[in-house]
Amino acid sequence: MSGIDTTGQIGVIGAGTMGAGIAQLAAAAGHEVLLYDAVGGAADTGRARVAEGLEKLVSRGKMTAEAVEALVGRIRVAADLSDFRGVALVVEAIVEKLEVKRAVFAELEGIVGPEAILASNTSSISVTSIARDLEHPERVVGMHFFNPAPIMKLVEVISGVATAPGVAQRVFDTAEAWGKVAVHAKSTPGFIVNRVARPYYAEALRLLEEQVADPATLDALLTEGGGFRMGPFTLMDLIGHDVNYAVSQSVFDAYYQEPRFRPSQIQLELVNAGRLGRKSGRGFYDYG
Ligand code: NAD
Repeated sequence: MSGIDTTGQIGVIGAGTMGAGIAQLAAAAGHEVLLYDAVGGAADTGRARVAEGLEKLVSRGKMTAEAVEALVGRIRVAADLSDFRGVALVVEAIVEKLEVKRAVFAELEGIVGPEAILASNTSSISVTSIARDLEHPERVVGMHFFNPAPIMKLVEVISGVATAPGVAQRVFDTAEAWGKVAVHAKSTPGFIVNRVARPYYAEALRLLEEQVADPATLDALLTEGGGFRMGPFTLMDLIGHDVNYAVSQSVFDAYYQEPRFRPSQIQLELVNAGRLGRKSGRGFYDYG
């Protein structure tokens, strides 16, 4: 078994924080990438963000302008999902909502060829559930990257009940060929990393609710004193509060509302206010 070779076209759905990074990663590995987003112009913005990030590497002498041009040139914006006809692998990175993901996978099934693998970058939703109503649930798998996708090494490869072992292995090998460290995991709420990371956010938010200290103090304590690479509030701002709240809610519900996974009202209010973190310019901190 081996990963998808570089002649295989990769389709990425959702051009936000994760989708743009995944597109960059696949293009850096030599694949032609199709990037699609339901919001008009969002895929172009995602592609432009990739170019902008890479241009910084050129100014630091870490990449040549020609290499950046070639990489960005391999990412094409798809106007419609029907452009995904020839893809070997789709990585879905849209909103963390089961019904929306199911609808996209159902649509994909009618478009892609029989050999195509359909992967979701979901952080917490059951891969088994995403695949449930499909004709071929055996080709659905989780391919869970971490933020920022081009930099973070780990990829969780998630098998649902129906996922064919060969499909999971192919995605595992593809992730490794893209320079990642892949791990296999069963589809459980939050998988591995988001399960163990939930209490990191939840307890930090409880400390804030109890007015123990402000976010900057708590972040400084955990990074400088605790040795964490990023404090919980900085990290939640990076992830996006809409995404982080949705993941907390999904893990909480999936574990029969176990109190240790309870989402925070503080985070819900940030979502309600549209203060989604870095991507909206403001969260716990200001990025203006
Ligand atoms: P995001 O909000 O930054 O981007 C999502 C994009 O998907 C948006 O551009 C939106 O327009 C688009 N979209 C929404 N519905 C769509 C549809 N039906 N069809 C096509 N495009 C659609 O979100 P994100 O942070 O990139 O998260 C995407 C997925 O990745 C989620 O499942 C999330 O749980 C997962 N994830 C996020 C992180 C993180 O740190 N943000 C890390 C790992 C995994």
